[in-house]
Amino acid sequence: MAPRDVPVAEPGQGGGSGSVSVPATSPAPAVSQAGPPREPVPISYPAEGEGTWRTAVGHPVTAGERGTLRRYRVLVEKGITGLEVNEFADTVSETLNDPRGWTAGGRWRMRRVGPGQPYDFTIYLATPETRDVLCGVARDGYTSCRNGDAVVINVARWVKGVPDYGASLSVYRQYVVNHEVGHRLGHGHELCPGKGQPAPVMQQQSLGLHRCTANSWPYRDGERYAGASGQYNDPTPPPDRGSAKPT
Ligand SMILES: [Zn+2]
Repeated sequence: MAPRDVPVAEPGQGGGSGSVSVPATSPAPAVSQAGPPREPVPISYPAEGEGTWRTAVGHPVTAGERGTLRRYRVLVEKGITGLEVNEFADTVSETLNDPRGWTAGGRWRMRRVGPGQPYDFTIYLATPETRDVLCGVARDGYTSCRNGDAVVINVARWVKGVPDYGASLSVYRQYVVNHEVGHRLGHGHELCPGKGQPAPVMQQQSLGLHRCTANSWPYRDGERYAGASGQYNDPTPPPDRGSAKPT
């Protein structure tokens, strides 16, 4: 199936601005590791970045056993500090390579490629205003989007998540990667199947769960997990103003 070419905006809820400081690393695991704990580096970002990019190196693993290969590169906008491009890219690839991810059904394989290599789409981590430039329509400065071959993750959501998500920031990050890449693979929006059920990954979970529970995966227990086509008419929050002044 050919991917849709229309930009897909992601209305969300909440909003907020001002200073924020969130560790660049995941919360400490339950089982403590040897050695002193590493001091987390806060991620900061201006409302508008430089519009230039750092590109991650390729990943050695091609995810999936069969199906069409989709190669992607990962870029982080300059001006975002406290997050190495390869660290972000590895979080993205860990999600896309997960056995609960889009490669599970045998239709797709995924591989992250490095600078100068051919690619099918790009995953950007962008500041709120650059996100608007890349996304085209629905310049809300808040949500993430997919526009053609651009999968655009808003750094504000990467850092802060969304209010009332009911799951960890790591789960939200997995969700937003799988959701936007799902658009690139041709999937549209879906609805909550029922109260207390996991939200389909193609539900707009950033805007509200609508009585579903947070879920970041397109496959559950080895089976495709999806809802009926459709989307909710939730309000769009105010743009994020960033957490640091441009350097
Ligand atoms: Zn969407």
